[in-house]
Amino acid sequence: MNLETPTKEAGPILKKYASRLEKLGIKKIEDFLFHIPFRYEDYSLVSEISNIQRGEIVTIKGKVMEIKNEFTKRWKNLQKAKVADETGEIDVTWFNQPFIPKIIKSGDIVSLAGKADWFKNKIILNSPQYEVIFNGNKPIHTGRLVPIYNETRGVSSKWLRRQVSTILKEQILFMNEHIPSSIIEKLDLMELKSAIEQVHFPQSLKKAQKAKERLAFDEFFFIHLAAIFRKNQWKNNLTGNPFLVSEYNKNVENFLKKLPFNLTSAQEKAVSEIFEDISSRKPMNRLLEGDVGSGKTVVASIAMYLTYLNGYQSVIMAPTEILALQHFKTIDSLLSPFNVKIGIATGSKKENIIDCDILVGTHALLSKKVDFKKLGLVVIDEQQRFGVEQRAIIRKKGKSPHLLTMTATPIPRTIALTTYGDLDLSILDEMPHGRKIIKTWLVPKEKREDAYKWIAKQIKDSNGQVFIICPFIEQSETMITVKAAVKEFERLKKEVFPNFKLGLLHGKIKSKDKDKILDNFKRGKLDILVATPVVEVGIDIPNATIMVIEAADRFGLSQLHQLRGRVGRSDKQSYCLLFTESENQTTIQRLKGMEKIYIGAELAELDLKLRGPGEIYGTAQHGIPELKIASFSDFSLIEKTRKEAEAIFPNLSKYPLLFEKIKKQNLKQISPD
Ligand code: ADP
Ligand code: MG
Repeated sequence: MNLETPTKEAGPILKKYASRLEKLGIKKIEDFLFHIPFRYEDYSLVSEISNIQRGEIVTIKGKVMEIKNEFTKRWKNLQKAKVADETGEIDVTWFNQPFIPKIIKSGDIVSLAGKADWFKNKIILNSPQYEVIFNGNKPIHTGRLVPIYNETRGVSSKWLRRQVSTILKEQILFMNEHIPSSIIEKLDLMELKSAIEQVHFPQSLKKAQKAKERLAFDEFFFIHLAAIFRKNQWKNNLTGNPFLVSEYNKNVENFLKKLPFNLTSAQEKAVSEIFEDISSRKPMNRLLEGDVGSGKTVVASIAMYLTYLNGYQSVIMAPTEILALQHFKTIDSLLSPFNVKIGIATGSKKENIIDCDILVGTHALLSKKVDFKKLGLVVIDEQQRFGVEQRAIIRKKGKSPHLLTMTATPIPRTIALTTYGDLDLSILDEMPHGRKIIKTWLVPKEKREDAYKWIAKQIKDSNGQVFIICPFIEQSETMITVKAAVKEFERLKKEVFPNFKLGLLHGKIKSKDKDKILDNFKRGKLDILVATPVVEVGIDIPNATIMVIEAADRFGLSQLHQLRGRVGRSDKQSYCLLFTESENQTTIQRLKGMEKIYIGAELAELDLKLRGPGEIYGTAQHGIPELKIASFSDFSLIEKTRKEAEAIFPNLSKYPLLFEKIKKQNLKQISPD
């Protein structure tokens, strides 16, 4: 057995537990060591029996004088023991654990930890933690800072502790330091072996902290180093097709003149960054990040136009048929006046596939039948929706084509730089000119009635339509969310808006009926649509101008931002009203952010600061690595590790162990390659 042995193959016991352990992320022996405790129970006060003070949390060590099961009248049972050391004797009791006298025998040396209680004028130990000490071994569940782990059914902290302790004893010798000693010394990091030991069985909380810092350092250091490695491979191993740019300035200018708007300066900047990339001998590998509506399509269109002018084809892949059709229409209207031929390939529609300059499509593009004569640019919209292989397949349809990936996922810059460290980044952090800001208010509890009156007036006076989003309860509890929505719908209909037409939409409604409800809303037959947040209200309803969100505190700011984006799709002024019952100051402060900030990435950053990444990047976000110890909100660590990674990279081959780690890391890491 070694650190790489899968738990399935590590003996009968671990084999039996393998599937449960996998739930905790433990798949091989080494993973036990990186299953980091989230806190420690402090049993480090060790006392002689005669010195125990009433009420203290204490560990004692002594010999078991007697131990027995005792059955009481009401079918309950007690386990009673007397334990003695040189200074005295103490009574110990457990409840309903009849197996204990099978584990602890009279004559054993035991270590017990718990609170010293007072019973019938005597100090006793009630239900203490216990372990039998063989051959003077050091205790692991008592007499020290004791690690508490994430558990799962049948896998307790006590059980995990025992495994970790054994693995530490047998395997820690084989753990080699992978961080260069120069870095360890310069930054005063704890050595790897000590860090692993101290994080599980710390001598002090200070040492535990220092151990965590060291392991957190490794986590970001590896992510950065792996990204630099990928970036370097891309730059060194691929030769691209350098496009001419300045030669076509006139054409691009003409194109821009024909647009019904001026580019925002963020769009201009992104275009010039892209032009710089595609004129180089290395293929471009750029991520364009920008909120929904920030105008990514036109930026991509300009790049595709330049590709056409250079005599190459482009392809743009979108995750859904609706999006692909929308792109097809947009790009066709933008570029066909310039003689560019556009084709489309989706599951149900195929046109002009062979003979086009730009091919728009869905996954259908990945089919072997789709072929290009001279593919120069690959654009992937909503890139997080595609897997590594899919991205690779589409790229392989050309000879080192330039790659532009796009996303509307609002991630803070720091996270983007970590996760997508191998990509060059352009951010559209500015909305097109003239777009009205969706006025947003956090409505205090006592203003709820006023808010309802105001909404009624808006519907009457300006013929507006309203979304009311019911509380988000939990994805796993769909039925509860649905029930709450139905109840709220009834209440609103009867008590609040009796004079208006209300509709209800939730996840349990059949999709045919859903379409009908949405269609009614779209055609103005409903004034108010009450909906659960899981329901896609993604379709365009330009006449909807008010978004009400109940229990706004349950949402992340990015989610709120995306919900808010469902209104404000016409030239009418739109509004977003956030309701909350919470009086927590941090929550209020967080929600107030919505009144002032209108950029997704900035809201994500604020969320990150105030709530931590676990909350925001739970399941919804793809492609963001899960951190075990470090935190994406630790900006200074992110910076520090990046600097060190950049500095060490040119000499990476001198550190074979580190090199191996990075290669392994890269297999796990998302990569456009
Ligand atoms: P997304 O970034 O979500 O893909 P789109 O590219 O679909 O956004 O653009 C959203 C809308 O904004 C489109 O109707 C587009 O024509 C328009 N648009 C894009 N850029 C500008 C601009 N600079 N000024 C005004 N409108 C713009
Ligand atoms: Mg888009």
